[in-house]
Amino acid sequence: MKLTIATVFVGTAALFAKEPVIKKEIREENGKKVEYMFIDGVKVHETDPAKQPQPKVVTPKPYDAEKAKAPEGAIVLFDGTEESLKKNWSAMNKGETKWKFVDGAMESVRRAGYIRTKEEFGSVRLHLEFATPKEVKGNGQGRGNSGVFLMGKYEVQVLDSYENVTYPDGQCGALYGRKPPLVNASRKPGEWQTYDITFHRPLFDESGKVTRKAKFTVIHNGEVIHDNLELSGGTNWRGPHSVSDYQKHGDVGPISFQDHGNPVRYRNVWIQKLEDGDQKEGVKAK
Ligand code: MG
Repeated sequence: MKLTIATVFVGTAALFAKEPVIKKEIREENGKKVEYMFIDGVKVHETDPAKQPQPKVVTPKPYDAEKAKAPEGAIVLFDGTEESLKKNWSAMNKGETKWKFVDGAMESVRRAGYIRTKEEFGSVRLHLEFATPKEVKGNGQGRGNSGVFLMGKYEVQVLDSYENVTYPDGQCGALYGRKPPLVNASRKPGEWQTYDITFHRPLFDESGKVTRKAKFTVIHNGEVIHDNLELSGGTNWRGPHSVSDYQKHGDVGPISFQDHGNPVRYRNVWIQKLEDGDQKEGVKAK
């Protein structure tokens, strides 16, 4: 191939992913002001596949029991016993959780609220397994909805996305409202699925401005669905087409799982702390 200036330029652009362009506007709808957010020109929760394509459906990798085992030195947050549920997890207000222990798993209970780890973490590697209800009820966002929150804030969506279409930036594996998964590697309802998440926490300066954005690598059932992705902002629902911005927070926060009204189960949760600096000392470039 003859190397041209154009190919060099394209190659360089691919190597250094540019900052996403975020635009916001307020629209009047039925007498109400509604915020619309666009990330690189795509509306948050866009459902038109011509504008936000559905991620390709792939066959998930078989469950790898060896890889799923907590490595030496990892903190086991849930080992399939009721004892570890009680020891390591609480309600968000730090009181006793109303989530149930069922068949070696912890299961969300409608209106019980989120569940959180008692211990708090910054940058981590996290393994967990989840299963959406075997009996399919509802559709879209109402089917097997839960979520994994890093530092209690940044959501990797949990949803039954097996033959269940919703907006791509809210399907299973999405960084909610911010980034769809690269592929849809979902298993069938009721089947155990794995997440292996590498998370580097964001850093903020004194004024509250984010100086290093959060980074996610997420592997869903053995398939990479986010590859060292820089999270463009917060993931909290702020309206039908808008999510939260970064807001300065502490160096650590809990791992939490969402109660979204559907009985989603979790098992085999373990975590490793990553040492990549903290708010006080900042981070040295590697
Ligand atoms: Mg959710």
